Amino acid sequence: MSLANKLAQERRARLAAERLLEQKQAELQAANRKLDKHAQALSEEINETRAEVQTVRDENARVKSDLTIANQKIEIAERRLWHSIETIQDGFAFFDADSRMIAANKAWLAVFDQLEDVKPGISYVEILQYATEEGIIDIADHAPAEWRETMLDRWQSPVPEPEIIRLWNGAYVKLIDQRGHGGDVVSLALDITDTIRYEQNLKSARHRAEAANRAKSSFLANMSHEIRTPMNGVVGMAELLKDTELDEEQLLYANTIKNSAEALLVIINDVLDYSKIEAEKLVLHEDPFDLERCIHELIMLLQANARDKGVDLLVDYDLFLPTLFIGDPGRIRQVMTNLMGNAVKFTETGHVLVRVVGMLNETAGTVKLHVTIEDSGIGIPPDKVEHIFGEFNQVDDETNRRFEGTGLGLAISEKLIRMMGGEIWVESEQGQGSTFGFSLCLPLADPAVPFDFRLPDRIRSVLIVEPQDVTRAILLRQFAALGVTVRACETGQAALDMLGPELDLVIADHSMAEMDGVELAEAIHEAGRDVPVILLSANSATAERDPGRRYVHAVLQKPVPRGALFAALETLGPTRADSPSDKPPEAAKPPRPMRVLAAEDNKTNRLVFTKMLKDLDIEIELAENGYEAVAGFTSFRPDLIFMDISMPEMDGKEATARIRQLEEGCDAHIPIVAMTAHAMDGDNEDILAAGLDYYLTKPLRREALIERITAACPKEARPPLQTVQAAE
Ligand code: ADP
Repeated sequence: MSLANKLAQERRARLAAERLLEQKQAELQAANRKLDKHAQALSEEINETRAEVQTVRDENARVKSDLTIANQKIEIAERRLWHSIETIQDGFAFFDADSRMIAANKAWLAVFDQLEDVKPGISYVEILQYATEEGIIDIADHAPAEWRETMLDRWQSPVPEPEIIRLWNGAYVKLIDQRGHGGDVVSLALDITDTIRYEQNLKSARHRAEAANRAKSSFLANMSHEIRTPMNGVVGMAELLKDTELDEEQLLYANTIKNSAEALLVIINDVLDYSKIEAEKLVLHEDPFDLERCIHELIMLLQANARDKGVDLLVDYDLFLPTLFIGDPGRIRQVMTNLMGNAVKFTETGHVLVRVVGMLNETAGTVKLHVTIEDSGIGIPPDKVEHIFGEFNQVDDETNRRFEGTGLGLAISEKLIRMMGGEIWVESEQGQGSTFGFSLCLPLADPAVPFDFRLPDRIRSVLIVEPQDVTRAILLRQFAALGVTVRACETGQAALDMLGPELDLVIADHSMAEMDGVELAEAIHEAGRDVPVILLSANSATAERDPGRRYVHAVLQKPVPRGALFAALETLGPTRADSPSDKPPEAAKPPRPMRVLAAEDNKTNRLVFTKMLKDLDIEIELAENGYEAVAGFTSFRPDLIFMDISMPEMDGKEATARIRQLEEGCDAHIPIVAMTAHAMDGDNEDILAAGLDYYLTKPLRREALIERITAACPKEARPPLQTVQAAE
């Protein structure tokens, strides 16, 4: 090989070696760069881990310090808790699930004063053992073992009932034990000695007060008897005195005596009733009674007073509501008398409206009655509305000086209604009027009797002529409820203008300005129309005497009882349900006067009695004692007997018992009405139990006697005259 080739070969080998070197160098550099990167990432990672380790270390330190603080806090809380538990006067202990004491405060342990064994670790059974053996607990007449067993049973029950125990020193402790989830029991022993002593003192004070109340009631009973007997003489004689010839001045004196005596009786009755309710001596009776009738009777009593002032007394008794209920008629009447009496008393002009609605519960046979008495009187200021139901409370002395009253009526009414399970309320606006209301749930006296009134078929369109807004509204509603077309106007002239051919009936008020009801009937007749006119009159007797009466179909006394309205409407023609054969035959005229026997030992009272009833067209026979009463029963054959209860020789109760014996087997029961000076309820029950049917309290009142006589009038006797007049 030539040198030149060798050189060329060497050069190529060197160049190749140089390229390889370059390549290796480049690779080395790349590897170095990678290594650098890696080293950097590693160092970052190490830094991060270091930081994390530091954080964890810090956290650990913090947790450690928190734990120490928490432990310190727990210790403080525990110390405070125990300090508090030790400070309280009542005993506190807790036991584990095996009933071993874990801890107890000093008050709990103090009961076991000298007994060193009673300490944490002791079992509940052992504690009971010590309690009985050492005489720590007063177990009265229980045997110790029996007492321990009862206490242990209680302790082991899941929810132990609180238990009151008495300690040897007379102190009372109430044990309240509560079981926790794990079976631990927390036991509280409360010292209730003061409360028990207070209760005992209260109890004995109550017994003393009740005894005093009983004494007060019997004092009132006696007093009322003592006062009523002479009052009978005063009221009766004053009434008789008024019937004699007196000059004006003497009449004024007689009237004043009578009115004062009656006012005094009202006060005595109020005070008596109130104290009876307070002493829980008032017993409610359950008798059937007619609510609507009761309202109309009260209206009759209040009518004169209201008419003097020009106040209209109105009744709106729901047309479809039954009227016979079971309740205490006397007490319901008393509430109604008070509310209606107040309404008239505190109303100078306008009206007093008694409204009765009710909700029938057919399954229970009861009615929820809602009775309101609305007046257009002086009203009650808002701040006095609650006040007036309190005893002796009146709106204010200034206003009430004008009105008589004890301020007891509403307090008594409220208590009576509450006793009957009802509610009483008032809504009032001063200067505008008041509405007092009460609700009562009463059983129906005869749930089987449905309401069955139907208007005669030919009556389809009715015109009401009534100037007074409230009455017009009532009549409109009532006739609409009967299912006829009904229109209304305020004057006779307006009625004539509305006299269309479709009209079947006109209901007109009697006293209307310009053209009164009778004149309207005449005018209708003169217009050639044959439409019946029923006249509603506040004074039906005057209407009956009016020559134009012949154009009037019927005259009804206002406010019209539902029965009277229905009776008048029935005469207008047959209803679909009627059949001619159903009509009752015309009643024959009663042939004889009613016979009334009265037994009364007191001469003055006998005189009062006969004078009071002298105009009634009835026969009266008098007896002076029980024997004569029994004899009179067989010889005179009375329709009704008035029987004084306390009479010499044979008293009223015994005489009644004998009369009832005589009646046995002959299917007769003559009503006997007791006349008594006693006003307490117990007496009334005695009287009714003795076979008497009813009682009247002295002093006797003419209206009450007449009411009884009328109620007892048999079909074959003439009704007493007074009633006939009253009805007119
Ligand atoms: P009395 O009527 O005997 O004063 P009440 O207890 O019946 O006692 O009534 C208490 C008071 O309530 C009355 O004195 C009167 O101030 C007020 N009051 C009762 N009813 C009415 C009424 N309808 N209108 C206005 N005030 C009345």
